[in-house]
Amino acid sequence: MADSSEKPATHMRISINKVRTNIWKHVRRQAVHSLLVLLRNYLRGLALLIKRPRLAQELVAREQRIRELKSNLARERRKIRQLKKPERRQIPTGSVHYGDLRRLRPISPNFGFDRGKPIDRYYIENFLAHWSGDIRGRVLEIGDNSYTQRYGGSRVKVSDVLNIAEGNPQTTIVADLTSAEHIPSDTFDCIILTQTLQFIYDVRSAIQTLHRILKPGGALLATFPGITQTSCREYGEYYCWAFTQLSARQLFEETFPAASIGIEAHGNVLAVIAFVHGLAVEELRREELDYHDPDYEFLITLRAVKPEAALSQGRRAVERLRRAIMRPRSRSEGKALILIYHRVTELRSDPWSLAVSPERFAEHLDVIRQYALPLGLQQLVQRLLDGELPDRSVVVTFDDGYADNLHIAKPLLERYDIPATVFLTTGYIGHERGFWWDELDQLLLQPGTLPESIYLKINGSIYQRDLGEAAHYDEDAARRYRNWRGWQDAPTARHSMYISLWELLRPLAEGERRQVLDELLTWAGTESENRPTYRPLSLEEAVNLAQGELVEVGAHTVTHPFLSTLSVASQRSEILDSKANLEEILNRPVTSFSYPYGSRSAETVAIVRKARFACACSTRAELVRSSTPRFRLPRVHVADWNREEFARRLSKWFSD
Ligand SMILES: [Zn+2]
Repeated sequence: MADSSEKPATHMRISINKVRTNIWKHVRRQAVHSLLVLLRNYLRGLALLIKRPRLAQELVAREQRIRELKSNLARERRKIRQLKKPERRQIPTGSVHYGDLRRLRPISPNFGFDRGKPIDRYYIENFLAHWSGDIRGRVLEIGDNSYTQRYGGSRVKVSDVLNIAEGNPQTTIVADLTSAEHIPSDTFDCIILTQTLQFIYDVRSAIQTLHRILKPGGALLATFPGITQTSCREYGEYYCWAFTQLSARQLFEETFPAASIGIEAHGNVLAVIAFVHGLAVEELRREELDYHDPDYEFLITLRAVKPEAALSQGRRAVERLRRAIMRPRSRSEGKALILIYHRVTELRSDPWSLAVSPERFAEHLDVIRQYALPLGLQQLVQRLLDGELPDRSVVVTFDDGYADNLHIAKPLLERYDIPATVFLTTGYIGHERGFWWDELDQLLLQPGTLPESIYLKINGSIYQRDLGEAAHYDEDAARRYRNWRGWQDAPTARHSMYISLWELLRPLAEGERRQVLDELLTWAGTESENRPTYRPLSLEEAVNLAQGELVEVGAHTVTHPFLSTLSVASQRSEILDSKANLEEILNRPVTSFSYPYGSRSAETVAIVRKARFACACSTRAELVRSSTPRFRLPRVHVADWNREEFARRLSKWFSD
């Protein structure tokens, strides 16, 4: 306590000195500033004296312009401050100003390319720039290599470009990511996969390929759309999925270790609206683009790294063998086409284009006989194994197991001596009820009167609809909409109800589906009738169908489920039981399989392979080539085309 009394005085002195110094500094600054202003005015006056009066006018105009710019800047700053504040202003119902957005077609249908940089690119490019260190060594990019060059620069030693089809001169690898066995494992240090996954139906297989072909320690940089337009007219045929952060994470965690996956969603309601309207990055402010609203997952970015792990001796040997098998062969490659039919009959309604009339089917067979080489499915598989795929070979297959396959199709196949494989859904053989999609058709797309509204619980949620005028549906209306297809716009409330129920029923287990169908029948006040034209084969008919050398019977599961959504155990019983049932009925081995709806996962393929099937058919519309895996045989759907149309399509397929 002794010397503390002196301290305040010292402090005071120091503070006063400080204040004095500051005042002096301020005065000095002021003086310098005034001097500069004087000097500037003097110079200005001097200039005016020399070049008057044009310069004087210009000066006034410039000063005016500067004032305007300053006030604009202040206005923009105010707006930014407003934006940064949470938007609390309530807009009463009915008083939203739509302005230019009140329109039914987008401002630009080209994602904004015609206006500047598309908005999704903003997030994609920020993401790639952030992880540009990953883009090094051997880099694979889909489509072209612009991002590899832009963000990898001199770090990139080899740049590969993958495309699904030939034709792009930049392409170094032609492959379908879902079955790219010819790309060696552990090849790439980095894979850039922007906006691609949504076009691949079998996403799981594609992710497995990406993981396989990455080097240990290599990084996958992927982006995919969340909420956006599908752009159906340009890409609709292939646009399968939109993702969420959650679904993307779960999908990738099936293949990559969870800890190696970094995933982020980007965007907000404004970015979504601007993008779906085809506006460009230049039309939004940076703060608007950067604002992240977790409820609006506009674009998702994902980085996944393949773990470092030494290759075991065994795996190396298998890989060497695989590369040797996959080495391109020198001789010219044959192409084959597998056709899918379902029914040979005429129907009053055919929402899935399953029926081909007997006349037209005969014409198709005639064209095949004349212009192609008809082969049995097992023959085709043998030729694939031998590496001797004959060119222009055509295989006929039927899915599901309708009775008309025996009574109408088989005699025609015999007349033209063309082999076919018929895949049977064994749970329906001899069943008194028809296929579920046909019961739905009977309920809604056939003439009659239904109650005007429906209220039903399906799979835990309420299904409620009003049919209104469409409750009554007469012969004329049925005739008018006879050629309506499920992928077209619904012309009446009945059609839209058919589609919504079809979508709700498809993923259900058979028991649940039957229960809903029963409730629908009760609602309609009718009973299930097994219409003769819609009948599945009986037991005896299945035996007759398989008799002789021409028709092979294959398995198509027990209840026709969407296999990839089932547990491995359920998939196994669907696949194995259908094989065992058929072998018991037919008393011969059943070695061909077809995936209902083409749906399969890597596990599905493994189960089918292990169950001693020789091959399995999907619904991917492609040619069979010598490199096509025999458990993912593509097939082409055939509609009720006339002779010319069928021949034209066949020749187009083979010339591709
Ligand atoms: Zn089927």
